[in-house]
Amino acid sequence: MSTSIDATGHKWTTPKGGAIVAAHSLSGTAVTAMNGRFCWNRGSPFPGRNPVGRPVSDVSDESSSGKRRNPRIRFIEQFLKQGLENRLAGLLLGQLDAFNRIATTFGHEQCEAFCASYSERLREILPPRTPIIRLSERRFAVLIDCDSMSKVMDVATTLTEDNPPQLEVGGDTFLVDVTLGIAVYPSHADDASTLFRRAELALKEAREKEVAFDIYRPDATQQQAALWKFESELQNAVSRGHLEVYYQPKVEVATSRVCGVEALVRWRTESGSFVPASDFIPLAETNGAIVPLTWLVFDRIVAQLAAWNGLPEPFTVAVNVSPQILTHAEFTTRVKALKGALDERKIQLVIELTEDSLVQGDATSLASIDRLRKLGVELAIDDFGKGYSSLTYLKQIPAAEIKIDKRFIGTVAVDQTDKQIVKTVIALAHALGMRVVAEGVDSAEAISAIGELECEMAQGFYIARPMRGDLVPEWMEHYAATAAMRRGAVAREWPEPARA
Ligand code: C2E
Ligand code: CA
Ligand code: CA
Repeated sequence: MSTSIDATGHKWTTPKGGAIVAAHSLSGTAVTAMNGRFCWNRGSPFPGRNPVGRPVSDVSDESSSGKRRNPRIRFIEQFLKQGLENRLAGLLLGQLDAFNRIATTFGHEQCEAFCASYSERLREILPPRTPIIRLSERRFAVLIDCDSMSKVMDVATTLTEDNPPQLEVGGDTFLVDVTLGIAVYPSHADDASTLFRRAELALKEAREKEVAFDIYRPDATQQQAALWKFESELQNAVSRGHLEVYYQPKVEVATSRVCGVEALVRWRTESGSFVPASDFIPLAETNGAIVPLTWLVFDRIVAQLAAWNGLPEPFTVAVNVSPQILTHAEFTTRVKALKGALDERKIQLVIELTEDSLVQGDATSLASIDRLRKLGVELAIDDFGKGYSSLTYLKQIPAAEIKIDKRFIGTVAVDQTDKQIVKTVIALAHALGMRVVAEGVDSAEAISAIGELECEMAQGFYIARPMRGDLVPEWMEHYAATAAMRRGAVAREWPEPARA
């Protein structure tokens, strides 16, 4: 056995036969060389740890520490430099999706055993001497020396579709999803770190599109930059308070009485155009902007109240609350302040929660929901029917209201199946003591169809589009005055300048 240090400073241990077996400087975990080439270490401990014992969660983790250049990138660099037998090198970045599930269900030892057997399997199915690098707990990379893009795609198909990873425990077999992001040298990048970044981008895209693998597209970088710009603009708009709150009325179907409004956030960019909430709320939910955004919406509602005189009673103001807000430390205090201001005007606060918050059903969310109930806040289950509506949480959640998703309401007048579904949901909600709101009522036919099904309330473009707060009292007067003409298209003639 001899030890050598390579050009990149790694210490390699070489047994008598001459084949390199381990690269100690790669945390002792990442790479083992077989037959003179590099492979995933069969017995690598779990999770991967760096020399000071910190878990290595990701390759970029180490590079961002700035202490030394990333050894995995150096390894890819070496592979590219050593002289490829063919023209191209494909970098396949793999992510084992069910990693956390294995750990929580069967424990870390099972994860270790799974990774060891999966690395064995990879060696069997990949061409001999293909380098396989363990990057972090759930990530690995494969480097393919090949002469065409289609060969790289064949390998990706072999890894994902023909040989999906499997976990064997106690005689049972579990399929483990693997997703791959691919970038090819030199077509997509001619240096190791750009190649790696581009494979990462392709992996991200594959995961977003929920496909088994994706190959880097040159325009993906531009798209990523555009997304980043959009994200920065949103952060700016939130921190500078450049958001507005619009209000969409809800009416009682039987009496046409206005019984409340739903507050909907609006972002008007510096160029003056509106960005739909559905475009930026999901982003705000992933980058943390949803927290200040929600408090801003609460504050705007309080500020709006002074200008609302002569509201009918009872009257509700509904706000949308994202799942992560429900468990935020400041949530209860913020809700109390909002509720206090609404109570003074005898307005009932309703918090709309989507199924996402409810299906999680974790103890913290349930405790928060329970606190809301004790504070006298009403809960509405939003977008009912949009996802995997679970009937269990209808029993678990003390909701006062169910809002049937617009996808059913849009077709309720013409589609018998949707009509039956809506009818069943209404009957179920009534049996559980809840009132029902039909969302997305955008025609006279829709409102009469839901009326026949005994749905209490309606909200939608046919009644009114979301409008600026100062226009709400004026709109209500107009709506009451035109009650007799309601079955015509009166609402559409309402002068609403900033349609949103
Ligand atoms: P949502 O809570 O289901 O809100 C109703 C959405 O449907 C609104 O879109 C509204 O403009 C639209 N809408 C109302 N009537 C009709 C109709 O007749 N036809 C059609 N096609 N659409 C109609 P908006 O304002 O773009 O909001 C989209 C989503 O963004 C909301 O869906 C809600 O999930 C979220 N959102 C909006 N404001 C907030 C907020 O302040 N906080 C949070 N967390 N989410 C918000
Ligand atoms: Ca809503
Ligand atoms: Ca909704």
